[in-house]
Amino acid sequence: MELNKLLRKNIRTLKPYSSARDEFSGEAMVFLDANENPYREPYNRYPDPIQKELKQKISKLKNIPSNNIFLGNGSDEPIDLLIRAFCEPGVENIVTINPTYGMYQVAADINNVEVIKVSLTSEFELDGEKLLQAVNDSTKLIFLCSPNNPSGNSLDKNEILKVINGFNGLVIIDEAYIDFAPGKSLLPVLEKYPNLVILQTFSKAWGMAGIRLGMAFASVEIINVLNKIKYPYNLNILTQQKAMELLDNEKQVNVWVKKLIEEREKMAKYFSKLYFVTKVHPSDANFLLVSMKNAKAIYNYLVESGIIVRDRSKVHLCENSLRITIGSMEEDNVLIQALKDYI
Ligand SMILES: *Cc1c(COP(=O)(O)O)cnc(C)c1O
Repeated sequence: MELNKLLRKNIRTLKPYSSARDEFSGEAMVFLDANENPYREPYNRYPDPIQKELKQKISKLKNIPSNNIFLGNGSDEPIDLLIRAFCEPGVENIVTINPTYGMYQVAADINNVEVIKVSLTSEFELDGEKLLQAVNDSTKLIFLCSPNNPSGNSLDKNEILKVINGFNGLVIIDEAYIDFAPGKSLLPVLEKYPNLVILQTFSKAWGMAGIRLGMAFASVEIINVLNKIKYPYNLNILTQQKAMELLDNEKQVNVWVKKLIEEREKMAKYFSKLYFVTKVHPSDANFLLVSMKNAKAIYNYLVESGIIVRDRSKVHLCENSLRITIGSMEEDNVLIQALKDYI
């Protein structure tokens, strides 16, 4: 794979914006280079455009060198940047699985990039060969999501590797829910695959959806492409500072994850006993996809009871299914009580 050939021509030749903080970073007595206001410290200063300190922390946490890490305003940012960097609008395409996370389609639509969708099996499993058959000469990226949203299951690692090995473009594995899964992340093998991009986020297990912080891990060459086209100051000071502070408490996260997995198993058992439930799909994430006889009726009943879940009935292979996030024990018990009262 030759990354330069894969890139859109305008991105390959682009001269990126160079900010004051790009041109000089380091210690100095006075900074008079960025037209900042001298008052209202520290918010008057532009944030670090490459988030050096935060990346060092994440580097330690994930055991991945800083220059293999891109940080974005949620994972949604690298999803959009990857499509923009590699796919010529109206000409080139991405391939993904169906059903999966809706943002790949939306980001592609915004960029006028075609999406070729390959159905998972009825058990939401990936057939790597079938996926590769959908690839054509204009396919630049393949998006996979494991554990998958909205089905909750992890995709088979061997099938994922088949895809990575059998494709000349980039393969993006979205691991937003990896902390809840017994299977391992692909991060330890990142180095072996120059066409692999792994996405993770602080929105789920880490409980930081509100500060918007997503990660992409890839080769230095790919990370450099993302850095070249991102907004210069894509992560604000508040996010960088808060993340630095919250990242010190990994133990707390592990406790939450353990609790949520226990809750998930409790809820799976509970749902499976309800007379109107036809299937509780196996989940490695912090939610359950539950198929039932009358999803819309249950959904409406829950809304009336003040409980909001996600109706996925219109999604491919998810007919009559609700996606239910695992909450705290108290929240889950409210749901249990409401469903007990449903006749
Ligand atoms: C929730 C989720 C994300 C997280 O997106 P952020 O922009 O980081 O909040 C990414 N991918 C999938 C599949 C998700 O379900």
